[in-house]
Amino acid sequence: METVWVQSLGSGSAGNALVFHAGGRAVLIDHGISPRALRTALAIHGLAPADLDAILITHEHTDHVHGLRAGLLTTACPVVGTEGTLAHLPTTRGRSLVAGPGQSLAIGTWEITALPVSHDAAAPSGFSVASHGVRCTVLTDLGERSGMAGEYLAASDLLVIEANHDAAMLRSGPYPAHLKSRIASGRGHLSNDQAGTWLGDVLGGSSAPRLVWLAHLSQTNNRPGVAVEAVTRAASASGADLRPVALPRRQAGPVWRPTDPLPSGTAPIPRQMSLSLPTA
Ligand SMILES: [Zn+2]
Ligand SMILES: [Zn+2]
Repeated sequence: METVWVQSLGSGSAGNALVFHAGGRAVLIDHGISPRALRTALAIHGLAPADLDAILITHEHTDHVHGLRAGLLTTACPVVGTEGTLAHLPTTRGRSLVAGPGQSLAIGTWEITALPVSHDAAAPSGFSVASHGVRCTVLTDLGERSGMAGEYLAASDLLVIEANHDAAMLRSGPYPAHLKSRIASGRGHLSNDQAGTWLGDVLGGSSAPRLVWLAHLSQTNNRPGVAVEAVTRAASASGADLRPVALPRRQAGPVWRPTDPLPSGTAPIPRQMSLSLPTA
């Protein structure tokens, strides 16, 4: 258990990547940052891209695959995604592993489950990943609740969920009308309130406090403090005690270990724990 940790290396339209480490090996969820940024982040933990057992790709949008083509040159590990996602990825021939919706895939010590989501991509999914008795579920880029994901969220030690926008900020913000309606649609992105009410419904039966990382925040239509407050409030209506932390958009976020005490939920971004990564 003490060798388990999770860290976001970027979360949002500028690039998404999250590392789940267990027992000296790791999986990467999305490769939206450059290989150099990934190498730098792994090296801080004494790891290299060769220590990855798998690269999981949620969908083919650039902010999730930007670094993949170059990154594949530095590791031989399989690329995991749904059939539709893999068909849209570069240079994965011979090393792609199809994750059927809701089916568990075993790679090394990892149990990997793709959870289909509604988003304007070919066949997008979130992932629930477990190893060494610890489960982390990552759901970003979805316009509405994913029916299959609820039980995985409830069973997770760390929940990473999109809180993309504040609905009122999006409505009154500078985006053109077609973009506003795409983001707010069922194939767009979850608002703070949608994320909070969903988590409240999933976790409301349990009074135990839960750590939630809020992911993929919009720079224009959200603020870390607004997201934390809205998700906490929306979830508390169902009796859930959430301890949300908003992930930094362009920087590595905090390192979570299962033995860490829960945050109070008052600090939107734990700045003292974030570190700068090169962006190119
Ligand atoms: Zn995205
Ligand atoms: Zn997307």
